[in-house]
Amino acid sequence: MEKVFGLIDKLEKSHSLELYEYEELIKGFSPEAAKYAAEKAVKLRQSVYSKDVYIRGLIEVSNFCKNDCLYCGIRNSNKLCDRYRLSKEEILLCCKEGYNLGFRTFVLQGGEDAYFTDDYLCEIIKEIKAAHPDCAVTLSLGERTYESYKKLYDAGADRYLLRHETADEEHYSSLHPQNLTLESRMNCLKALKEIGFQVGCGFMVGSPHQTTRTLAKDLKFIEEFSPHMCGIGPFIPHRDTPFKNMPSGDVQLTLYLLSVIRLISPGILLPSTTALGTLQNNGRELGILAGANVVMPNLSPYSVRAKYQLYNNKLSDGAEAAECKKELEKRMKSIGYRVVTHRGDCIIK
Ligand code: SAH
Repeated sequence: MEKVFGLIDKLEKSHSLELYEYEELIKGFSPEAAKYAAEKAVKLRQSVYSKDVYIRGLIEVSNFCKNDCLYCGIRNSNKLCDRYRLSKEEILLCCKEGYNLGFRTFVLQGGEDAYFTDDYLCEIIKEIKAAHPDCAVTLSLGERTYESYKKLYDAGADRYLLRHETADEEHYSSLHPQNLTLESRMNCLKALKEIGFQVGCGFMVGSPHQTTRTLAKDLKFIEEFSPHMCGIGPFIPHRDTPFKNMPSGDVQLTLYLLSVIRLISPGILLPSTTALGTLQNNGRELGILAGANVVMPNLSPYSVRAKYQLYNNKLSDGAEAAECKKELEKRMKSIGYRVVTHRGDCIIK
């Protein structure tokens, strides 16, 4: 008990721990340790971002995917998945609606769908930027080549989210088919950073075969890579995947890890994720109270939302975007935070 408090103090001061210390920190997880870490994380978050909560409009552009990640509901072998993709016009319409609601960042996320060629994506990015020059465009479209990332950046994309999923090679292999490797994932992350994107990595909490050791490696990786953003949320099984009988990740551990990541990187953009909100009704508020500072409500057309099922019962908020924004503002206000209308860039260079 004493030990973990000491490690939290050390992390708060130096923003760095040895790998074995991160492991101790995770092993030392308890409600008391979590409370202690959250207090420090919130204080740090506040000194950088005050009580501001940044919002991102999430547009799920396609659930076609060539990959077969064992955890994911839109994996290629899931023949029960009802596939869709949005047209450029539909995406632009989502942005327009989002803009009117006060969103200044649009996140285009999807499976690895070859239909979205570099040229088509560049066209979409340029049109979003032309219509909304004061907005940031974030992409989350999986692994592509250096040249492809470069084209997307040159077309105006600002940020890229690519969770590393786990920083342990063996663990990575147990979550993915053989053709997907940690090395290739890491190379993509490095390329994105080199090109100039604001980059986000991240992982699921409680993914099958995760251990305190692999989690410690995730934390050390985050410390060393120093991403601008980091997405973490509990693993939730999907009924039509090989992991259908695996238990969900733990909400309290996720909250603890959010606090720890804030202590590692005071200026990081840290979303309180949909998966957290899915497992617990007030999960996203709890995430903010643990040190997160970003929420990403869904702006996808209502007709397709249920089809982007990464996991069982994935939350897709109220009946329409406008309603969901109001609800979110109310929820954030109720815990003493305010949703702001600007791009919400990262302070990390
Ligand atoms: N194809 C893109 C986007 C993937 S979806 C890419 O490869 O980056 C975004 C994230 O959802 C994934 O990175 C993964 O960490 C998370 N996810 C997928 N399946 C999940 C599940 N069953 N439970 C919780 N999170 C999941």
